[in-house]
Amino acid sequence: MKLIGVLGGMSWESTTEYYRLLNQGVRAHRGGHHSARILMHSVDFAEIEAAQHRGDWQATANILIEAAVGLKKAGADFLVIATNTMHKVAPEVERESGLKVLHIADATADALIAQGITQVGLLGTRFTMEQDFYRERLEARGIKVLTPETQERETVHRVIYDELCQGIIRDESRLEYQSICDTLKYRGAEGVILGCTEIGLLLNQQGVTVPLFDTTAIHAEAAVSLALAET
Ligand code: GLU
Repeated sequence: MKLIGVLGGMSWESTTEYYRLLNQGVRAHRGGHHSARILMHSVDFAEIEAAQHRGDWQATANILIEAAVGLKKAGADFLVIATNTMHKVAPEVERESGLKVLHIADATADALIAQGITQVGLLGTRFTMEQDFYRERLEARGIKVLTPETQERETVHRVIYDELCQGIIRDESRLEYQSICDTLKYRGAEGVILGCTEIGLLLNQQGVTVPLFDTTAIHAEAAVSLALAET
């Protein structure tokens, strides 16, 4: 079994989900007392969050590169960056560490294609919804991406940073997210990507009629498959 290198702590609220899902996934395949082989570097999210919001992506890349180099030295076979947003710097992290990054958008595209979905809604941080690094990766696979309108994007972003990343789960916010999913469906989305690793802590399929694609679960499952693959 390969040793999975996890860059976590962005936020740790969702990294704990990764830890659980990676171990459950290996147990589901191997049974008994089997569990995932994991090395994790969990960062101080305050430094990342501050750099993101002042637009200093190089600073965020430097933090992740240093952590990834450490994971490589310690023997990790590949990297899981346990956040959608920080895939903005995935190419630099991959290049500088020499470790393959299992890209969260690629795993998500695979899951969408498997369900025959060609037009999808995307919820995530403002960076993930508004910049190209994520959307382009899906569009390259033939998937059209719809994002919420400006005001709704603000709500989605605010709830992620002010609530979910701080462990705050509010029914009011769940209702807002459900209504945003309804609007995306009305606009033609055949599915909605929970493109932030904390959204699954707030929202599940209950109360939402459009199929949801939780990137945390999808990414963890892809990591388990890669870890257990023969090559
Ligand atoms: N975990 C979130 C994501 O998947 C947001 C936190 C971050 O900015 O990394 O995008």
